[in-house]
Amino acid sequence: MTPANCAFFQIESEFASRVLYNRAMKFSTIFFDLDDTLYPPSTNLWKAIKGRMNDYMRDRMNLPVEKIPELREKYYLQYGTTMRGLQANHQLDADDFLAYVHDLPLSDYLTPDPLQRSIIASLPTRNLIFTNADIHHAERVLNVLNLRDLFKSIVDVNTVTPYCKPMPESFDIAMKLAGEADPSRCVMIDDLKRTTRAARKTGMFSILYGEAYMNGDADASFSDWHQLAGILEAQ
Ligand SMILES: [Mg+2]
Repeated sequence: MTPANCAFFQIESEFASRVLYNRAMKFSTIFFDLDDTLYPPSTNLWKAIKGRMNDYMRDRMNLPVEKIPELREKYYLQYGTTMRGLQANHQLDADDFLAYVHDLPLSDYLTPDPLQRSIIASLPTRNLIFTNADIHHAERVLNVLNLRDLFKSIVDVNTVTPYCKPMPESFDIAMKLAGEADPSRCVMIDDLKRTTRAARKTGMFSILYGEAYMNGDADASFSDWHQLAGILEAQ
């Protein structure tokens, strides 16, 4: 395909998805997770961030190397994120931690996906990012993916302090910020089952990105952005 044809194909794809979405939809707000949802786990970015967390705990907090994997797992399960666990049990400068763990050359990991962009751009809903990372990381990721202008706002881990996903309070705060009072008008798209399960419990429609779901984990799932249209329109 020549570059000119390629551009035409993209325009055609964008037009097709606009037509596809230009219908009534029962949802008015969609919350998108960021890491491992707007880009696939195969990019290894999230793996690199977790590696930076280990380095931080070892080098800046002087925690014993052999205890770090166990501590991270424990805090992640008990507090929602490693950072919330570190805050609860140690002295932690959260801003320093967040800056350190996200200090990675994002364009080495991420590539914009024009099809994904056209699909999100065509949604008739209010679209927000809802992430357990911080706004600086979210802004950087969205800029590299060429998606920043498509999101009304970013609900980050500091916005929902002292909570984080999957705590029910974090969903209440996110909805309030979105100006949405009715959870049944909201969708949460996330790669973690515990988040989609929690969103479902609040009354939102939850979509698991990246893998199949079992009963109760989510209301739907997709691994290809093309599939999003059919899922949303079927409700
Ligand atoms: Mg994620």
